[in-house]
Amino acid sequence: MDGQKEHHDFSVCREGGYQQAIEGIREAIKRGFRVTTNTTLFDGADPKSVRGFFDEMMELGVEGMMLSPGYSYEKAPDQKHFLGRARTRRLFRAILANRKKSWQFNQSKLFLEFLMGKRNYACTPWGMPTYNVFGWQKPCYLLQDGYADTFQELMESVEWKNYGTESGNPKCANCMVHSGYEASAVDHTFSGLGGLWATIKAGLTTTYRDPDALDMLDEPVKPVHAFNPLVQIEAGKTQMEETRA
Ligand code: SF4
Repeated sequence: MDGQKEHHDFSVCREGGYQQAIEGIREAIKRGFRVTTNTTLFDGADPKSVRGFFDEMMELGVEGMMLSPGYSYEKAPDQKHFLGRARTRRLFRAILANRKKSWQFNQSKLFLEFLMGKRNYACTPWGMPTYNVFGWQKPCYLLQDGYADTFQELMESVEWKNYGTESGNPKCANCMVHSGYEASAVDHTFSGLGGLWATIKAGLTTTYRDPDALDMLDEPVKPVHAFNPLVQIEAGKTQMEETRA
């Protein structure tokens, strides 16, 4: 894909906060700062537009990009537009397959493969713990099952087997968020020769050629408000179908 021009309509995001952020990035880079981005994607995201965004960040001189699907943490004001697992994999496959060599990501290559549906990992909720004014949040920043005063108390007081997609906890059913799963991918890299080789291979075969994924880029994108919500924090029939897919 390198060198080929994809066409994107950025007219909708040329105003307001996006444009201000671009100007801020440009200025920061001009003054010698190292700039990275962190992008959370929700239901209704246009994969072609996201790929155009990557191009733009690289052209600006951004050092690396991070990605994660959004998830329905309990306090989010909008509970309707989070992705289920099946749709997350599809979206990230469309975005990250046929990858341009110019795109630089500053995160685990195996986690990106997990998002594309090429790998499966169990959650490591303590991998990126959250500490705030109330203490250490149990079990992760997405859920709120109380707080611990110390990290040791967090580790010892949480019933970790009750969390993660495989646990059957409906609150975790569709989660693929980097706070829980990128730690698992990193652990895989350093847990033995298999993980290390998989990471090296991911670094060598960077394009992930996939003609079907290329076709997905031309599919019409449904506006997020045009269809029913699929993922809620409570377990429902549709949610579990998405989880198993
Ligand atoms: S799957 Fe892991 S990261 Fe996601 S909500 Fe559950 S405990 Fe938190």
